[in-house]
Amino acid sequence: IEFKGVNLGVLVAATGADEADEHTEQLLQLFSRSIGLAINNAMTHSKFQRLAAIDGLTNVYNRRFGMDRLKEDFSRSIRDSSSLAVAMVDIDHFKRVNDTYGHLVGDKAIILVSSIIKSSLRDGDIVARYGGEEFLIILHGASSEDAVIVCERIRHKVNDSVLRDGDQQIDLAVSIGIAAYPEQTVTKEMELIDIADQALYNAKNNGRNRVVCFGQIAEG
Ligand code: GH3
Ligand code: MG
Ligand code: MG
Repeated sequence: IEFKGVNLGVLVAATGADEADEHTEQLLQLFSRSIGLAINNAMTHSKFQRLAAIDGLTNVYNRRFGMDRLKEDFSRSIRDSSSLAVAMVDIDHFKRVNDTYGHLVGDKAIILVSSIIKSSLRDGDIVARYGGEEFLIILHGASSEDAVIVCERIRHKVNDSVLRDGDQQIDLAVSIGIAAYPEQTVTKEMELIDIADQALYNAKNNGRNRVVCFGQIAEG
């Protein structure tokens, strides 16, 4: 089975006769061409679906996909009383990175932080680029305590990472706000984002480079 000269698969047919007659062979060829077209369409469709869900700069999920996923996960948590934690990650003093080293280096910082987050998560957890230098992490089945462990790991990795611009070394840090259901009695997934944002705000106001859970005081 091929489409436009690309091999997509093999069609195997069996017959009780010694060999297929010409009519059968023609039918098989027609069949094979139709399957080739169908497989190609399916692959194009899934490729575009993937493209529509991915952020072009970082290759992590985009905001729309992240929000769709959060909605699904939140409904699931309400249905089966499972826990769900979200974390909002924001790069500290990012404007300074852009202003000092330029936008391209700023972009590299965003890519670096996204890959650190991605590599710190388990299968099934997701990260989405929520805004310019902001990421949403969804941890299904996690309490706020679990989320703190994951987020502290991310914060430390970002601290330890090295971003270079020529012979300049750029230090990066992130602040992270966490909110978890059912610890927080929210009824909509957007409320969870809102209170994670408030926790993030708290982390920023208490000196940045820290992880704060909603309702907790930021530690020094
Ligand atoms: P804070 O510690 O309070 O978070 O300070 P900040 O400077 O990080 O916060 P602010 O929101 O003022 O700055 C975010 C900056 O991110 C502003 C914007 O120009 C920049 N930005 C947004 N998207 C991109 C992007 O895709 N690439 C680059 N290089 N910069 C971006
Ligand atoms: Mg921001
Ligand atoms: Mg920032």
